[in-house]
Amino acid sequence: MSVLRTLQGTPASPGIAIGPVRVLSSQQRSKPLPAGERVPAQELARLRAAQKQAEKEIQEIYERACTEVGEGDSVIFQIHILMLQDEGFQQMIRKSIVEDHASAEYAVWSAGRKLYQMFSNMEDEYMRARSEDMLDISRRLLMCLNRQTPSLDFQGNYLMTPAVLCLTQAVPSQIIRTNHSQVLALVTQYGSSTSHSAILARGMGKPAVVGLGEHFKDLPRGEGQVIVDGTKGVVIVNPTPETLEKYTRIMSAESSRRADLAAFKGMKTMSADGVRIHLLANINSMAEIQMALENDAEGAGLVRSEFLYSPDHCPTEEEQYQQYSQMLAQMGGRRVIVRTLDLDSNTSYSYLDQEQEANPAMGLRSVRLCLRHRDLFRTQIRALLRASVYGRLGILVPFVNDGEMFRQIRMWIQSLAEELKREGKEISEAVSIGVMVETPAAALQAHELAREADFFNIGTNDLTQFTLAVDRENRQLKSLYNPSHPAVKRLIAYAARAAHEAGIPVCVSGEAASDYSMLRFFLRAGIQYLSAPPPYILELRREIGRLKVRGKGNGGQ
Ligand code: PEP
Ligand code: MG
Repeated sequence: MSVLRTLQGTPASPGIAIGPVRVLSSQQRSKPLPAGERVPAQELARLRAAQKQAEKEIQEIYERACTEVGEGDSVIFQIHILMLQDEGFQQMIRKSIVEDHASAEYAVWSAGRKLYQMFSNMEDEYMRARSEDMLDISRRLLMCLNRQTPSLDFQGNYLMTPAVLCLTQAVPSQIIRTNHSQVLALVTQYGSSTSHSAILARGMGKPAVVGLGEHFKDLPRGEGQVIVDGTKGVVIVNPTPETLEKYTRIMSAESSRRADLAAFKGMKTMSADGVRIHLLANINSMAEIQMALENDAEGAGLVRSEFLYSPDHCPTEEEQYQQYSQMLAQMGGRRVIVRTLDLDSNTSYSYLDQEQEANPAMGLRSVRLCLRHRDLFRTQIRALLRASVYGRLGILVPFVNDGEMFRQIRMWIQSLAEELKREGKEISEAVSIGVMVETPAAALQAHELAREADFFNIGTNDLTQFTLAVDRENRQLKSLYNPSHPAVKRLIAYAARAAHEAGIPVCVSGEAASDYSMLRFFLRAGIQYLSAPPPYILELRREIGRLKVRGKGNGGQ
């Protein structure tokens, strides 16, 4: 008999979802099939038919994915087709059928397994990652041979039916490449509430529980449902009918609460005693632009441009230009702040020569990586500047520690603007260039930075991790990771004061921006903009409207 179990993780994105589990794990393997005494001609004919069917299915998935997640992130399915057609793979299968009289299933399984092992043992991280793709395509071919189509839960990261997406390693690019419309909730084995997987779930408005640890193995595979309670951070396995009923009631109360928030659309955001603040949206995908508008964001305060870069494909200037133009046009005159590429070595990108690093969070990442790979940086800046004519663009430079570094980057951006003008390209004269204050050094150098930058964007996620020396990804340290620690607040207040003195605007865009317990502090510190995931905006507006912030207190801490 199946027993109800409650698995405790970390709450990462509020809300409730009920549905079947789909585990996207690196441990998935197909079962071996016995080799048989088959007639080669018949097996080869079956193989050809299955191959055709598999290609057709992956092509269909590719087309669906293009409309849902964009061409860049869907390119992997084209690679799957090429891997499926690969002559080496095909020859291995045929050899086993012709020489050993193996069944087509066995031949596919053993060739897939050999190539999986070959890829897994490769030095190059990118090639190692292809081992999973090998498993995916041989699984699909096997399903087609058994005429069980289209019954796979995934092709690559593509979810075929609505489900709770469960990941061992929550790699943001995996989540981005999953078709969001089918994701009911997100559950991960590792990670914390400020890891990028949790940030993505919040932006998508999906409930999420992260860091289940060893309980992850207790998730039911295949049949059965789970309840994901992203507010409490629990996953309920095998819920009883009473528990299901209770949670269904909570879900309907939650949807009427969300409907009530619609009343705050079109209103100004202001505290009960008249302090005005602007609410912007953090954007992690093109789909979130629409969500930002639906939730009445006054602009996009932080576009994490990494979503345009998939591990297999580096977007060209033209591709990026199209995306940024579309973003700016869709936002219709509202400010759009695009952060330049902030990658680290946790994920491998085929077009970068990355080294394995002991401390990727403090390594060759973000603008440091861009300065090392100037072509990459140049392509992005040119695309942004060209797109600037479609709206109000701000370019945000992350991971800067001092005024001198920022000044040089700014001058370089200006020289690219000149270059474009010489080429006859039109660019807006009103592009602002700001700096992300997300290291203690940047906060302490705030006066110097404020002289060079047009605006500040305080990234509390990294500022907290580096000020407290607490890894934001480490679930064992979650009680120590505290953005409202006095040391972090002091740095925020100090940077905000420097921005005021220099007369430049200041925004907070880390996850703390949607932490209601920090709102009073932000308003008193004179933060004029908060940038949060779109689903939080209307609720923030309501919460701020309930606060009184003037009066007692030193304004800063
Ligand atoms: C931050 O560091 O606070 C931030 C907003 O950026 P990210 O979470 O992408 O590092
Ligand atoms: Mg950051």
